[in-house]
Amino acid sequence: MRNLIKGKSGESSELQVGYTKSQEQHKEGDIWEEGGKKWILKEGIKQTYTKLDKVKKEAILPLFCPNCGSLMKKRLDSKMYKIHNKCFDCVIEMETKLKSQNKFEEYSLNMRLKNAEDAIDDYEVYLLENLNISNNQYVSEKGEIERWKGGQDKEQLAKEIKENVAELKLKLKQAQNDQT
Ligand SMILES: [Zn+2]
Repeated sequence: MRNLIKGKSGESSELQVGYTKSQEQHKEGDIWEEGGKKWILKEGIKQTYTKLDKVKKEAILPLFCPNCGSLMKKRLDSKMYKIHNKCFDCVIEMETKLKSQNKFEEYSLNMRLKNAEDAIDDYEVYLLENLNISNNQYVSEKGEIERWKGGQDKEQLAKEIKENVAELKLKLKQAQNDQT
């Protein structure tokens, strides 16, 4: 019905048959848009969702390194800043120090685990957002658009996404425990 009201064309009309708009009730962990803002229900409280804004900000390279204050102009500065929030030289210095203290292995492993966890989080956000953008289409991992009828499948899919994410995180935790 929503697509009809919005006047979206190109949608197969048969998909609208038997479709009822699901109620605007949100569960823990739900992300939705309302009044031009992104919201998330966390610990039962409706909060603005800022993770993606944070990612956007971090992607912008400031002129100077926040750690040493030197001008960041190298290609590697940009790459390192995104990961460590400091310039390439500062990262080299930090890693040299860690190596001298025999802490580099541990640091390196923690970085990889953190990256993996961030990637899982981003994946979950991406999937849930796509789910919330449209009630009757969903972009699969392969980039194919999958459609379905009604709101029931959307909920089922959201549940599956969350279950998969939880499983991935559990595996990550297990990998972490195996290493330490
Ligand atoms: Zn620096």
